[in-house]
Amino acid sequence: MAETPYDPQNIFAKILRGEIPSHRVYEDESVVAFMDVMPQGPGHTLVVPKAPSRNLLDADPATLGPLFTVVQKVALAVKKAFGADGATVLQFNEPASGQTVYHLHVHVIPRFEGIALRPHTGNMEKPEVLAENADKIRRALVG
Ligand code: 5GP
Repeated sequence: MAETPYDPQNIFAKILRGEIPSHRVYEDESVVAFMDVMPQGPGHTLVVPKAPSRNLLDADPATLGPLFTVVQKVALAVKKAFGADGATVLQFNEPASGQTVYHLHVHVIPRFEGIALRPHTGNMEKPEVLAENADKIRRALVG
């Protein structure tokens, strides 16, 4: 069966092109990180390569090293920014796995002992809360 092609009109492609807003916390030549609008916990961040691929399954392997280098930076930053006990890193491939946006991305979510994650793609967070959390993460990334 033919693979589904990459759709350049997906929401993260639009965010990467600056066509729709996001709360960015990090950007370099190959990777961007921004706040998830329906966070599974405070500080839920998405780490997204600029190179187009639908998900991990069709990604150029050369994309993955720089992507996971930033995943580690962001995991350390969210842990520091929120005084978390740990961080969950999640990545979904195709609808059967729970993927809903078809541009490769990695979820980084600060975790606290005894506190469960909220549902995947649940409620929209208030923009002012996302802005405040993004600020905390930016500060932790530089400090
Ligand atoms: P997936 O299920 O594809 O791994 O996750 C997609 C994620 O993107 C979800 O956690 C969802 O909350 C988030 N999301 C969906 N639409 C938007 C959007 O317009 N902006 C941002 N920042 N996140 C989004």
